[in-house]
Amino acid sequence: MIIQPRIKGFLCTTAHPVGCAEDVAQQIDHVRRYGPVNGGPERVLIIGASGGYGLATRITAAFGCNAATIGLFFERQAARNRTASAGWYKSAAFTNMAEAAGLYTRNINGDAFSDDTKQRIISLIKEEIGQVDMVVYSLAAPSRTLPDGTVARSSLKPIGEPFTGVTLDINSSTIRPISLEPATPQEISDTVRVMGGEDWEIWIQALLDAGVLADGCITTNYTYLGSEVTWPIYYHGTIGKAKEDLDRAALEIHKKLSRIDGSARVVVMKGLLTGASSAIPGMSLYLSLLFKAMKSRGIHEGCIEQTTRLFTNQLFNGNVPEFDEAGRIRMDDWELSETVQSYVKDNWSKINESNLSDMTDFAGYREAFLQLHGFGFTGVDYQADVAQTVDMALVE
Ligand code: NAD
Repeated sequence: MIIQPRIKGFLCTTAHPVGCAEDVAQQIDHVRRYGPVNGGPERVLIIGASGGYGLATRITAAFGCNAATIGLFFERQAARNRTASAGWYKSAAFTNMAEAAGLYTRNINGDAFSDDTKQRIISLIKEEIGQVDMVVYSLAAPSRTLPDGTVARSSLKPIGEPFTGVTLDINSSTIRPISLEPATPQEISDTVRVMGGEDWEIWIQALLDAGVLADGCITTNYTYLGSEVTWPIYYHGTIGKAKEDLDRAALEIHKKLSRIDGSARVVVMKGLLTGASSAIPGMSLYLSLLFKAMKSRGIHEGCIEQTTRLFTNQLFNGNVPEFDEAGRIRMDDWELSETVQSYVKDNWSKINESNLSDMTDFAGYREAFLQLHGFGFTGVDYQADVAQTVDMALVE
C-alpha cells in the first residue's frame, strides 16, 4: 500500500510505518548522543507510552538508563484498508530497536482506567521483573469509563466566559476564527475525572498494595501551564482544572509513598505538538509563534530533548531536583523566558495570512504535524509500497 497523509481538521487518519520508525530512531540517536544517565531507574512502567511525552520518556529510560520498560497504551492495529495508528507503529519500532539493544521490553494495549488492566500489569511485574523503580503517568485521554460503567468525557473549553481565537488550517494554511461557549459544571467535573489525578492515585495505590513498587520509587505526571495568551483556553479552562487536580494528587501520593522512601512529582513540560495538543483550540497559532521564537534563539526542544534534560539535569545524574512554590519540577523554563514570551505576546494579535510564514514558524508546525504521523521525513520513500500491518508482541 502507498500511504499518504489524509488530513481532516486537526486529525490525520493515516500513519506511515517507515516514517514512524524513523521518528523513533531519531529520538534514540538523540539520547545516545547525550550519553548515559547515571543513577537512573532500572525498571520503569510508562502509562501512556506510545506518543508524545510518554514515548520520549520510555526512550530516555531505555536508551539513557538501560532500563527495562513496560509500556501501556491504547492503540489501533492496521485493518484491511486502514493503517495502524502512529502510536502502534512507533511502539512496534521501539520494541524492535530496544530488543536489538538487549533491553527488556513489554507492551500492553489496553484501557489504563480499567481495574483489569491494572491487575494485568501488576501480575506481569510480579512474574517477570519483581518491582519497578519509576512509574510515569503520561496519559492524554478523551474519555474514561468509570467503575459504574458510565463514561466521563474530557472537554477543552473556557470557564466562566466564551473564548474567541483563531486556528491555523494545516491543509490550506489559512486562519479560521473559532469561538467556544463556556463549559458547564458537569463538563468541568468530567474533565477533571478524565485528566485529573484520581486515576494516577488509584494506580499508585494498587501498585503499592501489591508490593511492586521498589524502595525509593519515583512517580511523575506531566502538566502544562503555558503562556498568558493561552490561559483562557488552557490553564484557566477545563483542562487547567484537571491539571490543578494533579497538584492535589501528587501531595497525596507523595505522602503514601513515604513508607517506601518514594516520591511523587508533577513535572511542567513545554508546549509541543503531540496527538493530544493538536486538538486544543488556538494552540496551533501559539505553537507556531513559540517555535519561531525558540528556534531563532537556538533553544527549541522536542519531547525527547525535554525528557532527556529532565532525566539528566533534574531527576538523576546525582542531581537534587529544583521545585517551584507548588512542588513541581519546571521544564518550561525556556518557553516561559522573558524574551520568548515577549515575542509571542507582541505578535499574538498581529498574525494574518500574509505575514503567517514570516512571523511564525507555521512551516515547522506543519512539519511537526506530519512527522507525528510518520510523514515528512527526508530519507523515507513515500512512493514505495509498504505493508501497513506491522506485528508487535503484546502481553495479553
Ligand atoms: P499523546 O496524545 O501524544 O499521548 C497520549 C498517550 O496516552 C498515548 O500513549 C495513548 O495511547 C495513551 N492513552 C490514551 N488513552 C488511553 C487509555 N484509555 N488507556 C491507555 N492509554 C491511553 O499526549 P501527550 O501530549 O504526550 O500528553 C501526555 C501528558 O503530557 C498529558 O498529561 C499532557 O497534558 C502532558 N503535557 C503535554 C504537553 C504538550 O504540549 N503536548 C505539554 C505539557 C504536558
